[in-house]
Amino acid sequence: MTIAMRISYSPIYTYSRLPEGHRFPMEKYDLLPQQLLHEGTITEADFFEPGPLTESQILRTHKVEYWEKLKLGTLTRKEIRALGFPFHESLVNRGRHISNGTLDCAKYALNHGIALNIAGGTHHAYADRGEGFCMFNDFAIASNELLYEGLVKKILIVDLDVHQGNGTAKIFEQESRVFTFSMHGANNYPLKKEKSDLDIGVPDGIEDKDYLELLTKTLPDLIDDVRPEIILYLSGVDVLETDKLGRLKLTKEGCKKRDEFVLTTAQKKGIPVAISMGGGYSLKIADIIEAHANTFRLARKIF
Ligand SMILES: [Zn+2]
Repeated sequence: MTIAMRISYSPIYTYSRLPEGHRFPMEKYDLLPQQLLHEGTITEADFFEPGPLTESQILRTHKVEYWEKLKLGTLTRKEIRALGFPFHESLVNRGRHISNGTLDCAKYALNHGIALNIAGGTHHAYADRGEGFCMFNDFAIASNELLYEGLVKKILIVDLDVHQGNGTAKIFEQESRVFTFSMHGANNYPLKKEKSDLDIGVPDGIEDKDYLELLTKTLPDLIDDVRPEIILYLSGVDVLETDKLGRLKLTKEGCKKRDEFVLTTAQKKGIPVAISMGGGYSLKIADIIEAHANTFRLARKIF
Protein backbone atom coordinates (compact mmCIF):
# COMPACT_ATOMS: atom_id res chain seq x y z
CA MET A 1 0.00 0.00 0.00
CA THR A 2 1.33 3.40 -0.84
CA ILE A 3 1.17 5.88 1.96
CA ALA A 4 -0.26 9.28 1.28
CA MET A 5 2.27 11.67 -0.16
CA ARG A 6 1.14 15.05 1.05
CA ILE A 7 1.12 17.79 -1.56
CA SER A 8 0.42 21.40 -0.81
CA TYR A 9 -1.74 23.11 -3.42
CA SER A 10 -4.29 25.87 -3.60
CA PRO A 11 -5.98 27.60 -6.56
CA ILE A 12 -4.46 30.79 -5.09
CA TYR A 13 -1.06 29.58 -6.35
CA THR A 14 -1.98 30.59 -9.90
CA TYR A 15 -1.87 34.36 -9.95
CA SER A 16 -4.17 35.54 -12.71
CA ARG A 17 -3.20 39.19 -12.86
CA LEU A 18 0.13 38.99 -14.65
CA PRO A 19 0.28 41.14 -17.77
CA GLU A 20 0.15 39.34 -21.11
CA GLY A 21 3.57 38.03 -22.13
CA HIS A 22 5.11 38.21 -18.63
CA ARG A 23 7.99 35.75 -18.58
CA PHE A 24 6.89 33.93 -15.43
CA PRO A 25 5.15 30.67 -16.46
CA MET A 26 2.29 30.99 -14.00
CA GLU A 27 0.18 28.30 -15.69
CA LYS A 28 2.52 25.59 -14.43
CA TYR A 29 0.79 25.65 -11.06
CA ASP A 30 -2.39 24.35 -12.69
CA LEU A 31 -0.85 22.13 -15.33
CA LEU A 32 1.44 20.21 -12.98
CA PRO A 33 -1.26 18.90 -10.62
CA GLN A 34 -3.45 18.11 -13.64
CA GLN A 35 -0.68 16.06 -15.21
CA LEU A 36 0.12 14.20 -11.98
CA LEU A 37 -3.55 13.37 -11.39
CA HIS A 38 -4.10 12.36 -14.99
CA GLU A 39 -1.22 9.90 -15.07
CA GLY A 40 -2.08 8.48 -11.64
CA THR A 41 1.10 9.49 -9.83
CA ILE A 42 -1.09 11.14 -7.22
CA THR A 43 -4.74 11.20 -6.22
CA GLU A 44 -6.95 14.04 -5.01
CA ALA A 45 -6.52 12.67 -1.49
CA ASP A 46 -2.83 13.57 -1.53
CA PHE A 47 -3.56 17.31 -1.73
CA PHE A 48 -4.01 19.65 1.16
CA GLU A 49 -4.80 23.33 0.93
CA PRO A 50 -2.65 25.52 3.14
CA GLY A 51 -4.03 28.52 4.96
CA PRO A 52 -2.17 31.84 5.18
CA LEU A 53 0.85 32.34 7.41
CA THR A 54 0.17 34.34 10.56
CA GLU A 55 1.86 37.69 11.03
CA SER A 56 4.03 36.36 13.82
CA GLN A 57 5.21 33.53 11.55
CA ILE A 58 6.13 36.05 8.87
CA LEU A 59 7.92 38.27 11.38
CA ARG A 60 10.13 35.45 12.62
CA THR A 61 11.88 35.81 9.24
CA HIS A 62 10.97 39.13 7.67
CA LYS A 63 11.54 42.66 8.94
CA VAL A 64 8.51 44.47 10.23
CA GLU A 65 9.19 47.47 7.93
CA TYR A 66 9.06 45.18 4.88
CA TRP A 67 5.92 43.45 6.10
CA GLU A 68 4.23 46.83 6.68
CA LYS A 69 5.05 47.85 3.12
CA LEU A 70 3.53 44.64 1.78
CA LYS A 71 0.44 45.02 3.93
CA LEU A 72 -0.12 48.65 3.03
CA GLY A 73 0.98 48.36 -0.57
CA THR A 74 3.68 50.99 -0.12
CA LEU A 75 6.65 49.32 -1.82
CA THR A 76 8.62 51.83 -3.88
CA ARG A 77 8.71 51.52 -7.64
CA LYS A 78 12.29 50.28 -7.38
CA GLU A 79 11.29 47.59 -4.89
CA ILE A 80 8.46 46.45 -7.14
CA ARG A 81 10.82 46.27 -10.10
CA ALA A 82 13.21 44.11 -8.07
CA LEU A 83 10.34 41.81 -7.12
CA GLY A 84 9.54 41.25 -10.78
CA PHE A 85 5.75 41.16 -10.48
CA PRO A 86 3.44 44.18 -10.71
CA PHE A 87 2.26 44.67 -7.14
CA HIS A 88 -1.21 43.67 -6.04
CA GLU A 89 -2.50 42.82 -2.58
CA SER A 90 -3.60 39.38 -3.77
CA LEU A 91 0.05 38.63 -4.51
CA VAL A 92 0.76 39.06 -0.80
CA ASN A 93 -2.05 36.70 0.08
CA ARG A 94 -0.76 34.19 -2.47
CA GLY A 95 2.72 34.35 -0.95
CA ARG A 96 1.38 33.80 2.55
CA HIS A 97 -0.41 30.64 1.43
CA ILE A 98 2.52 29.27 -0.54
CA SER A 99 5.01 29.76 2.28
CA ASN A 100 2.65 28.23 4.77
CA GLY A 101 2.32 25.28 2.39
CA THR A 102 6.07 24.80 2.62
CA LEU A 103 5.93 24.99 6.41
CA ASP A 104 3.12 22.42 6.52
CA CYS A 105 5.09 20.19 4.14
CA ALA A 106 8.10 20.36 6.43
CA LYS A 107 6.00 19.37 9.44
CA TYR A 108 4.36 16.56 7.52
CA ALA A 109 7.73 15.30 6.25
CA LEU A 110 9.02 15.11 9.81
CA ASN A 111 6.34 12.53 10.55
CA HIS A 112 5.99 10.78 7.23
CA GLY A 113 9.23 11.20 5.33
CA ILE A 114 8.26 13.30 2.34
CA ALA A 115 5.97 16.15 1.29
CA LEU A 116 5.98 18.50 -1.67
CA ASN A 117 4.74 21.95 -2.40
CA ILE A 118 3.35 22.66 -5.90
CA ALA A 119 5.02 26.08 -5.61
CA GLY A 120 7.57 27.79 -3.39
CA GLY A 121 11.32 27.80 -3.52
CA THR A 122 11.29 31.58 -3.15
CA HIS A 123 14.95 31.75 -2.23
CA HIS A 124 15.69 35.27 -3.51
CA ALA A 125 13.58 36.95 -0.84
CA TYR A 126 15.62 38.68 1.87
CA ALA A 127 14.45 39.55 5.38
CA ASP A 128 13.82 43.14 4.32
CA ARG A 129 12.98 42.93 0.62
CA GLY A 130 11.79 40.76 -2.23
CA GLU A 131 13.43 40.12 -5.55
CA GLY A 132 13.46 37.75 -8.51
CA PHE A 133 9.76 36.75 -8.25
CA CYS A 134 10.20 36.02 -4.52
CA MET A 135 8.23 37.98 -1.91
CA PHE A 136 8.49 35.74 1.17
CA ASN A 137 11.35 33.29 1.67
CA ASP A 138 9.47 30.03 2.19
CA PHE A 139 12.45 27.91 3.29
CA ALA A 140 13.57 30.56 5.76
CA ILE A 141 10.06 30.90 7.16
CA ALA A 142 9.66 27.13 7.49
CA SER A 143 13.12 26.76 9.07
CA ASN A 144 12.61 29.54 11.59
CA GLU A 145 9.23 28.16 12.54
CA LEU A 146 10.48 24.58 13.00
CA LEU A 147 13.29 25.88 15.19
CA TYR A 148 10.96 28.20 17.11
CA GLU A 149 8.52 25.39 17.81
CA GLY A 150 11.39 23.17 18.91
CA LEU A 151 10.60 20.49 16.33
CA VAL A 152 14.19 20.21 15.09
CA LYS A 153 17.63 21.44 16.03
CA LYS A 154 19.37 21.19 12.68
CA ILE A 155 18.17 21.82 9.14
CA LEU A 156 19.93 21.34 5.83
CA ILE A 157 18.80 23.40 2.86
CA VAL A 158 19.76 21.83 -0.46
CA ASP A 159 19.19 24.43 -3.15
CA LEU A 160 19.79 23.09 -6.66
CA ASP A 161 17.92 25.78 -8.55
CA VAL A 162 20.22 27.25 -11.19
CA HIS A 163 20.17 30.59 -9.36
CA GLN A 164 21.97 31.03 -6.06
CA GLY A 165 19.77 31.02 -2.96
CA ASN A 166 21.00 34.48 -2.08
CA GLY A 167 18.17 35.53 0.23
CA THR A 168 18.31 32.26 2.14
CA ALA A 169 22.10 32.46 2.49
CA LYS A 170 21.91 35.99 3.86
CA ILE A 171 19.05 35.29 6.26
CA PHE A 172 20.94 32.36 7.81
CA GLU A 173 24.42 33.84 7.61
CA GLN A 174 24.66 33.87 11.43
CA GLU A 175 22.37 30.91 12.16
CA SER A 176 24.38 27.74 12.80
CA ARG A 177 21.26 25.57 13.10
CA VAL A 178 20.44 26.03 9.42
CA PHE A 179 23.08 24.89 6.94
CA THR A 180 22.65 26.45 3.51
CA PHE A 181 23.99 24.57 0.49
CA SER A 182 23.54 26.12 -2.93
CA MET A 183 24.76 24.68 -6.22
CA HIS A 184 24.13 27.14 -9.02
CA GLY A 185 25.36 28.73 -12.23
CA ALA A 186 28.45 30.72 -11.26
CA ASN A 187 27.77 33.33 -13.94
CA ASN A 188 24.03 33.54 -13.55
CA TYR A 189 21.74 35.82 -11.58
CA PRO A 190 22.25 37.04 -8.87
CA LEU A 191 25.46 38.67 -10.03
CA LYS A 192 26.37 39.60 -6.48
CA LYS A 193 26.29 36.26 -4.65
CA GLU A 194 25.84 35.92 -0.92
CA LYS A 195 27.85 33.47 1.12
CA SER A 196 26.02 30.21 1.78
CA ASP A 197 27.55 27.71 4.21
CA LEU A 198 28.50 25.82 1.07
CA ASP A 199 28.41 27.26 -2.43
CA ILE A 200 29.26 25.38 -5.59
CA GLY A 201 29.23 27.62 -8.63
CA VAL A 202 29.14 25.61 -11.85
CA PRO A 203 30.31 26.90 -15.23
CA ASP A 204 27.95 27.81 -18.09
CA GLY A 205 27.20 24.88 -20.35
CA ILE A 206 27.93 22.16 -17.79
CA GLU A 207 26.44 18.80 -18.85
CA ASP A 208 24.83 15.91 -16.97
CA LYS A 209 27.96 13.93 -16.22
CA ASP A 210 30.04 16.71 -14.68
CA TYR A 211 27.10 18.19 -12.83
CA LEU A 212 26.04 14.88 -11.32
CA GLU A 213 29.61 14.04 -10.42
CA LEU A 214 29.90 17.25 -8.41
CA LEU A 215 26.64 16.54 -6.64
CA THR A 216 27.35 12.90 -5.87
CA LYS A 217 30.73 13.61 -4.41
CA THR A 218 29.36 16.42 -2.23
CA LEU A 219 25.93 15.59 -0.85
CA PRO A 220 26.38 12.31 1.07
CA ASP A 221 29.36 13.61 3.08
CA LEU A 222 27.59 16.90 3.64
CA ILE A 223 24.58 15.14 5.15
CA ASP A 224 26.90 13.07 7.37
CA ASP A 225 28.72 16.22 8.53
CA VAL A 226 25.67 18.40 9.13
CA ARG A 227 23.46 15.59 10.50
CA PRO A 228 20.19 17.42 9.79
CA GLU A 229 16.84 16.24 11.09
CA ILE A 230 15.21 17.46 7.90
CA ILE A 231 16.28 18.49 4.41
CA LEU A 232 14.50 21.27 2.58
CA TYR A 233 15.10 20.61 -1.09
CA LEU A 234 14.68 23.27 -3.77
CA SER A 235 14.31 21.34 -7.01
CA GLY A 236 14.36 24.17 -9.57
CA VAL A 237 14.23 22.89 -13.14
CA ASP A 238 15.95 25.91 -14.65
CA VAL A 239 19.10 23.75 -14.89
CA LEU A 240 17.66 22.28 -18.12
CA GLU A 241 19.34 22.93 -21.45
CA THR A 242 15.97 24.13 -22.75
CA ASP A 243 15.77 26.85 -20.11
CA LYS A 244 15.79 30.46 -21.31
CA LEU A 245 17.60 31.76 -18.23
CA GLY A 246 19.61 28.80 -16.99
CA ARG A 247 22.71 28.67 -19.23
CA LEU A 248 23.44 25.06 -18.19
CA LYS A 249 23.07 22.00 -20.41
CA LEU A 250 21.34 19.39 -18.31
CA THR A 251 19.05 17.00 -20.18
CA LYS A 252 15.67 16.07 -18.77
CA GLU A 253 17.19 12.71 -17.85
CA GLY A 254 20.06 14.45 -16.06
CA CYS A 255 17.66 16.65 -14.10
CA LYS A 256 15.73 13.53 -13.13
CA LYS A 257 18.92 11.80 -11.99
CA ARG A 258 19.70 14.85 -9.87
CA ASP A 259 16.37 14.54 -8.04
CA GLU A 260 16.75 10.79 -7.78
CA PHE A 261 20.16 11.14 -6.18
CA VAL A 262 19.00 13.70 -3.62
CA LEU A 263 15.93 11.69 -2.67
CA THR A 264 17.57 8.25 -2.49
CA THR A 265 20.50 9.63 -0.51
CA ALA A 266 18.18 11.25 2.03
CA GLN A 267 15.90 8.23 2.19
CA LYS A 268 18.78 5.82 2.78
CA LYS A 269 20.07 8.00 5.57
CA GLY A 270 16.62 8.29 7.10
CA ILE A 271 16.31 12.05 6.68
CA PRO A 272 12.87 13.47 5.88
CA VAL A 273 12.58 15.79 2.88
CA ALA A 274 10.25 18.67 2.10
CA ILE A 275 10.40 19.89 -1.48
CA SER A 276 9.62 23.24 -3.06
CA MET A 277 9.62 23.52 -6.82
CA GLY A 278 11.62 26.63 -7.64
CA GLY A 279 12.18 28.04 -11.10
CA GLY A 280 11.77 26.72 -14.61
CA TYR A 281 11.72 28.90 -17.71
CA SER A 282 11.94 26.54 -20.66
CA LEU A 283 10.41 27.85 -23.86
CA LYS A 284 7.94 24.97 -24.00
CA ILE A 285 5.77 24.69 -20.91
CA ALA A 286 5.66 20.90 -21.48
CA ASP A 287 9.40 20.72 -20.72
CA ILE A 288 8.87 22.52 -17.43
CA ILE A 289 5.92 20.35 -16.41
CA GLU A 290 7.68 17.10 -17.37
CA ALA A 291 10.77 17.95 -15.31
CA HIS A 292 8.74 19.02 -12.27
CA ALA A 293 6.53 15.94 -12.64
CA ASN A 294 9.64 13.76 -12.49
CA THR A 295 10.37 15.12 -9.01
CA PHE A 296 6.92 14.01 -7.83
CA ARG A 297 7.16 10.63 -9.58
CA LEU A 298 10.47 9.95 -7.91
CA ALA A 299 9.23 11.07 -4.52
CA ARG A 300 6.37 8.60 -4.84
CA LYS A 301 8.71 5.80 -5.91
CA ILE A 302 11.49 6.35 -3.40
CA PHE A 303 9.60 7.17 -0.19
ZN1 LIG B 1 15.91 29.91 -10.55
